[in-house]
Parts: sequence; structure tokens; C-alpha cells
Amino acid sequence: MSAQTAVERAAERWVVWMRRWPTVESLAQAPLPEVLVLWQGLGYPRRARDLHRGARLVAADGWPSDLTALPGVGRYVAAAIRCFAHEEPVLPIDVNVARVLERRFPGGVDTAGDPWRAGQALMEFGQRVCRAARPACASCPVAAGCPWPGPLAPVVGTRPPRRRQPPYAGSLRERRGRLLRQVLADGRVPAAGADAAAAAGLIADGLLAAEGSWLLPPA
Ligand code: SF4
Repeated sequence: MSAQTAVERAAERWVVWMRRWPTVESLAQAPLPEVLVLWQGLGYPRRARDLHRGARLVAADGWPSDLTALPGVGRYVAAAIRCFAHEEPVLPIDVNVARVLERRFPGGVDTAGDPWRAGQALMEFGQRVCRAARPACASCPVAAGCPWPGPLAPVVGTRPPRRRQPPYAGSLRERRGRLLRQVLADGRVPAAGADAAAAAGLIADGLLAAEGSWLLPPA
């Protein structure tokens, strides 16, 4: 949920989600339209579809040894699941953790003692203390022995320039979201009056179904 959505927004929904589907098996048994309804507001509904497909695969065959075999799971998410869900000594390396390792622990970190806590700590440390542009070296709890030159090191250019996001209003993404909400709310929508590009994309992604002259929720 938090991969492309602000963590504050994802956290609230996560609580509701986990009350509804506390296990992989319960999520696997849920109809996809119900899953898509509860995902609404988080954006990128393909992630909900992938999560649901993944839950069905795990419920049927167990966890694969290579988690990237699950839909929508790349190397980072696979490492995050192994660290935070299975508590294996695998470090999910996001941009914050990568920076902390590069500056403070170039030889790596042994997380075997408490992988979950170590992963959480390194992520938060990179976000709050060993920040990209203004690291708080003066109050850093692990400053002793830090090989990084500190705030005197040039920081200009350490962060790539932000790419301008195209406006969301009127975008295909917005139109897809609107059509999907409409179909999920109404149960079916006449294809003739619907946004053709949005409908085609949603059907191709398995998020809508077409039957005769109607657009329907996915089976
Ligand atoms: S001393 Fe500065 S650069 Fe080194 S780990 Fe702490 S915050 Fe990061």
C-alpha cells in the first residue's frame, strides 16, 4: 500500500484492510470487486489486483521460495516481505537505507540478531537523521567512527532533480479511476457512453470485464 501512496494514508486503510482480511487465505477468498472497493483512494488499483492474485497463489501453493514470482513483487518488495513479515535477515534497501549504508556502514550491517528492528531502524534513521541534503551529524547517535566527511561534503547534486509530474486532473489515470469507481458502485455501466480509452486499459488490466454492451466489475 505504501509503495506509491503516502504512508499516513496507507496506514489508516491498512488497519481497516487487516480487520476485513487478516490472513492470506481470507484475502484469497474475497471477490476481486470487494478488494478493489476497499482499495479505493489509495490509487494504482493494479496493486490491489496483484495483491489479490498473489494471495490466491500463496493460499493454493504456499509461499514461493523466490517471492518475485508473485505478481507485482519486485526485488525490493520481496526483501521487505522477508524482513518485516518473515523476520529473515534480509535488508530491504530503499533510498534511505542505501544512503546510510554508503555513508556510515560501507562494509554492510549484520541484521541477523533482529532483522525486523534493524530494517525499521535503518529506514527511519536515513529518513530522519542521515538525511540526503542535511544530515544531522551533530546529533547523530552513531557519529563516532563515521567515515563520511559530514556536512562539509558537497551536497549539491546528491539528489537528482525532481521530475515534474504531469497534472492528475484530466489524465488517463484519473479517468480510469473514475470509470472503475462508477462500475464498482453501479454494478454495470453501458459501454457506449463510457470513456473508451479508460475502459480498454481497465479491461486489459483485468480490472473491468466487458459483456455485450456493458462494462462490469471483474469476475
Ligand atoms: S555522522 Fe552524519 S553522515 Fe555519519 S551516519 Fe551520522 S548523520 Fe550520517
